[in-house]
Amino acid sequence: MAPTPFIIVAIDGGAASGKSSSSRILAERFDLLHVDTGSFYRQLTSELLQRGVPPTDLPALSAALDRLRLDTRLTGRSAQMLVDGRPAGPEIRSARVNEQVSHYAAVPEVRGTLLGYQRGQADVARRHGLRGLVMEGRDIGSVIFPQADFRFFLHADPAERAKRRAREGQQDSIAERDRIDSSRKASPLTCPAGATDIDTTHLTLDEVVARMAAMIATRLPAATA
Ligand code: C5P
Repeated sequence: MAPTPFIIVAIDGGAASGKSSSSRILAERFDLLHVDTGSFYRQLTSELLQRGVPPTDLPALSAALDRLRLDTRLTGRSAQMLVDGRPAGPEIRSARVNEQVSHYAAVPEVRGTLLGYQRGQADVARRHGLRGLVMEGRDIGSVIFPQADFRFFLHADPAERAKRRAREGQQDSIAERDRIDSSRKASPLTCPAGATDIDTTHLTLDEVVARMAAMIATRLPAATA
């Protein structure tokens, strides 16, 4: 019998494009590690804000980043980042972090700190006996795993995305974050050549998942229905 392949699924897209919900479902269905890299940027942002280190103070930022120890803990199939042993708290979804995260994420030193850590999630998935990983973010298919087995890019109309955030009860500067994320020099948000572009504006979550799952199932049988 041929061994089960280990697959990497990259899902990129703007804020509230449907990445998190769909990647969580795909992780369950195909027995993959779910990695939400936006939560890592949020956690570092929260940490640096608490330490009073602004994204514009490069020497202080580099010194703070150099001292951080990053580890991983699994909650179900989801990778949780531990910063100096501490997991993320609810504050990573606060209005303050929503407002600030893109400014920190635009700094190459911040991205550099997370680059190796994110790639290392493939080893975490292997160590836990999972069949691969599904990683969501902004630069997964372009920078972190350009050789991923599947690369998806999700987008939706701004009005629809604002409605989704409002339904989640979140105050979020979606348009402003997307503007900063798309125009930064370091790893901007963009649909990489060769990725499968899905407009989720008029699709239900089930429909989005079904499209991606049909492609993934050509390489890896689903673990659950
Ligand atoms: O995915 P989420 O909206 O939680 O991401 C929060 C922010 O983290 C994004 O607006 C972006 O600035 C940053 N980010 C990034 N690269 C990633 C994931 C997130 O720059 N791969």
